[in-house]
Amino acid sequence: MQNSATPTHCPYCALQCGMNLTPAADGTVEVSERADFPVNRGALCGKGRTAPAVLSSRVRLTSPLVREGGVLVPATWDEALDRIAAHLTRVRAEHGPDALGVFGGGGLTNEKAYALGKFARVVLGTSQIDYNGRFCMSSAAAAGTKAFGLDRGLPFPLEDIPRTGCVILVGSNLAETMPPALRFLTELKENGGTLVVIDPRRTRTAEQADLHLAPRPGTDLALALGLLHLVVAEGRVDEEYVAERTSGWTEARAAAMAHWPEYVERITGVPVPRLREAVRMFCEPEAAMVLTARGPEQQSKGTDTVGAWINLCLATGRAGRPLSGYGCLTGQGNGQGGREHGQKADQLPGYRKLTDPEARRHVAEVWGVDPDSLPGPGRSAYELLDALGTDIRTLLLMGSNPVVSAPRAAHVEERLRSLEFLAVCDVVLSETAELADVVLPVTQWAEESGTTTSLEGRVLLRRRAITPPDGVRSDLEVLRELADRLGVEKGFPADPEEVFEELRRASAGGLADYSGISYGRLAEEGGVFWPCPAGDTGDHPGTPRLFLDRFATEDGRARFVPVSHRPAAEEPDDEYPVLLTTGRVVAQYQSGAQTRRVDELNAAAPGPFVELHPRLAARLGAAEGDPVAVVSRRGRAVAPARITTGIRPDTVFMPFHWPGEGRANTLTNPALDPTSRMPEFKVCAVRVETVSAADTANAAEAGEAAEAGDAVEAGNAVVAAS
Ligand code: SF4
Repeated sequence: MQNSATPTHCPYCALQCGMNLTPAADGTVEVSERADFPVNRGALCGKGRTAPAVLSSRVRLTSPLVREGGVLVPATWDEALDRIAAHLTRVRAEHGPDALGVFGGGGLTNEKAYALGKFARVVLGTSQIDYNGRFCMSSAAAAGTKAFGLDRGLPFPLEDIPRTGCVILVGSNLAETMPPALRFLTELKENGGTLVVIDPRRTRTAEQADLHLAPRPGTDLALALGLLHLVVAEGRVDEEYVAERTSGWTEARAAAMAHWPEYVERITGVPVPRLREAVRMFCEPEAAMVLTARGPEQQSKGTDTVGAWINLCLATGRAGRPLSGYGCLTGQGNGQGGREHGQKADQLPGYRKLTDPEARRHVAEVWGVDPDSLPGPGRSAYELLDALGTDIRTLLLMGSNPVVSAPRAAHVEERLRSLEFLAVCDVVLSETAELADVVLPVTQWAEESGTTTSLEGRVLLRRRAITPPDGVRSDLEVLRELADRLGVEKGFPADPEEVFEELRRASAGGLADYSGISYGRLAEEGGVFWPCPAGDTGDHPGTPRLFLDRFATEDGRARFVPVSHRPAAEEPDDEYPVLLTTGRVVAQYQSGAQTRRVDELNAAAPGPFVELHPRLAARLGAAEGDPVAVVSRRGRAVAPARITTGIRPDTVFMPFHWPGEGRANTLTNPALDPTSRMPEFKVCAVRVETVSAADTANAAEAGEAAEAGDAVEAGNAVVAAS
């Protein structure tokens, strides 16, 4: 065990803040400031500061568990691994390899994501693998690939933000999700730039804005089209840029011109003068950016919605130029790297496509297998979860807690219960692990080394800082042991650096080329942006800024994609007259499997709540703190009312970190985007009831709150321009 400070990165979100970890004499681990990492410059949010508490939590798993007589009991590692291998072998023999499902996570390191994808395809031979990152950024990834030929969350470093002229932030609440990143927006304003925030709620981030637009949930696509219409009508198109660097403008322009500002106002609830103000702020400076997050992305039209924002950037010449561009604020810790190296249903390492014969040949050669032995693409995350207990009979799950985080969660829970066999690797007994037949206790971030790739596309080295407790093993060791038991004795090293060396070769020549990156370089340089090909000399500097010379399409031009408004999959009606949107709070992370084990975080955010407007609360007869029920076509959730004027009267908000009766994802709609297969987490129709009168219909009264007049009044205020 090291006694000095080990520089590493936070285990949670995609900002991957730098921190130092020092083991203390009493066995705990101290977190201290690491000022050399330029993203957070030492600042950490409460989650990062308290992350070591999970390492020594009294609920930490330190022994494998197997189900006996209906209950989970401790077992040896050999007993647990033998049991998993026996089930995988039997089910594959009886039902074929696609009866075996694998589900990964956006928090897994690059090495684990790579090894898990290889394990599924080489050892199990199954096509049925996907991961929870599908629920995070897949719409932005699909739209970015269509437009630019390449998906990297941010095509520029965060440090460019303060130097641009205007940022339109769409559906992102950085103040709660990534607090240290808020300083980039503060510095933008200090430098004379402007901030436009688009969010149905007046969040702590929206309070910082020069202009806050509060559209009705599910209408961001129409809003972006309305802005593009105004750009054209006001003669603000950068014609020279469009002619030289893009294709497809004629069709995209025609689609936008069908979205008159007054029509867009009717759809979104955002008044036309506010739309004009946003266009002015975006177009007047020399450079500007659009940044999206889960708000526009987690919709059944998320790909088109992001595409509309990209079109706005392209028409105004704000992409592939210094200090300008479109970027996605990826959410999970390794949401970026996790989508590059093969745990996605349609993908091989290096961001290669599983359907591309040349990609299959290259990766199969690195893996030492016949390209024809590799299965084809499988189901997307929700479709895979929905198929559990039908043709998928067994599931191996790593780094995910879908009982809390999947849409239509009660149904997903039922599907998990219907499996013949479920094996889960986790650090604590998550709500999903509670359902398992075998639970394997695994190491955590500070106890193992590995790389992650931040939302900037910066590959980072997390270093082992402490010795793991007795009884736990790493996910890589688990895969090696299982591969061995299933007859594949080579190709699954447990040493992360050895896995990374193979990943480098597998990614070489791909879009996400890591071949020029090594652990040594990462330790020395603190991070390297991909693509970073090895080349002949091995000294490629990495690529902090993409697209400055050309886009990654065949002809080097960015592609406009014509898109049009369409309603959410579920619109309000007499029975379900209110819209639900979901999101996060600052003191909890994703399904809360880890952060709900930290006393300080629980004290700050002890449970779910239903945020609603005073007018809606008055109609319901609900006071602050009263339990209210939110009911959708998929189920019912109950949580205390939190009454605020910072939300539209036609909308309620629930955070999604908790299980049980307050589980927000009981309500959410699994309607999928046709391209990205992203579920519609961000908007569904609900009714809200006081719990004492849960079965009495308040729907009609609540429906009155959804009138456009209320909505416009609640949001869309202009904050004093800086
Ligand atoms: Fe960790 Fe994200 Fe908080 Fe930074 S902002 S400390 S990476 S959770």
